[in-house]
Amino acid sequence: MRQMTSGLRKAASLAGRYLSSGKPHHAQWLVTRKCNYRCAGCNVWKEQDEQELSATEIKKGLNILKNMGIVELTISGGDPLLRADIAEILDYASERFLTTVYDNGSMATKKIDALRKVDFVAISIDSLDENTNDAIKAVPGALKTAMHTVDVLQKEGIRVAVTPTISQKNLYEIMDITNYFMERKIPMWFCLYSYDTSVDSKQLFRIGKANDEFIITDKDAMIKLCNQLIEAMKKNPNILMTKKLLQTLRSLYEPNAERIWKCQALNQFLVVDHIGRISGCHNHNFSGSIFDLPKQWNSNEFKTLRKTYQDCTQCNYLCYIAYSLYGSPKSTLALAKDQWKNIRLILK
Ligand code: SF4
Ligand code: SF4
Repeated sequence: MRQMTSGLRKAASLAGRYLSSGKPHHAQWLVTRKCNYRCAGCNVWKEQDEQELSATEIKKGLNILKNMGIVELTISGGDPLLRADIAEILDYASERFLTTVYDNGSMATKKIDALRKVDFVAISIDSLDENTNDAIKAVPGALKTAMHTVDVLQKEGIRVAVTPTISQKNLYEIMDITNYFMERKIPMWFCLYSYDTSVDSKQLFRIGKANDEFIITDKDAMIKLCNQLIEAMKKNPNILMTKKLLQTLRSLYEPNAERIWKCQALNQFLVVDHIGRISGCHNHNFSGSIFDLPKQWNSNEFKTLRKTYQDCTQCNYLCYIAYSLYGSPKSTLALAKDQWKNIRLILK
């Protein structure tokens, strides 16, 4: 009963924040720069850092994000589950936000109790072929470990989701991966291989590494995949995408490719790094500290940055596209209509 009351309190608080305008609704907090994998399309493991905020500092920052209007929080890294104090952080975050935590598949079974309250644990699996997946992760046995993790989490009643990163390496396999997990009633969403092209030497941090093998060259296949996912979504509420998001993704590969959205970095979303610096997205220079965010939010400096970011076309990271599409109260209501089946899944 107490759990139900606190769940309802959280839902009411989230709904109130979602419908407020002029505030950011999505935040990504990369709570660590440590990673135990060596993925071929990623820079994080090459630029690890021992420094990080303490759990107490992060909790202080989370209170700030809640008061700023953040509804959806993604906790990522490196691998955030490598932090010894991750249980304390996730516990605190889950009571305040719709919380997703990312894991490369290697850590979640060691932190089961820390994961019980989070809304989704996202496990990264890029291929069902051991050679392909393990080469992408550069860790032998990565697929077996991740599959075991998904099984254990599902048996433990923890909301596990699988998140392949679509690239030229696995493009023709994405529907097979989707069907495989749909049969097992595991929710899925997707990332899109993207790499940093920042010319800003003070970029907050680097994630995607340019790699010719990953860049999608078969545009027709990508368009077909978007169409297949749009069809599959109609029958399956476990595909946690929206039609609008897939149409937006598809538009990037059509003959007259165009960006049909304006980036809402530092407007509808922001990122926080492992030492508490914030930026609209990881590709740009940091704009201050999480602890000064309330003071800075309405500053002229932030207003100018927002305008610059709206015209920026530097990246196609799918999470940033989604946050840009679904950040305002109006778009949230449209999302609720489009995604009613998914919302029911989350509420369950
Ligand atoms: S993609 Fe994720 S798991 Fe792989 S090296 Fe980068 S941070 Fe680590
Ligand atoms: S398009 Fe948006 S998210 Fe991507 S680099 Fe530009 S400001 Fe950042």
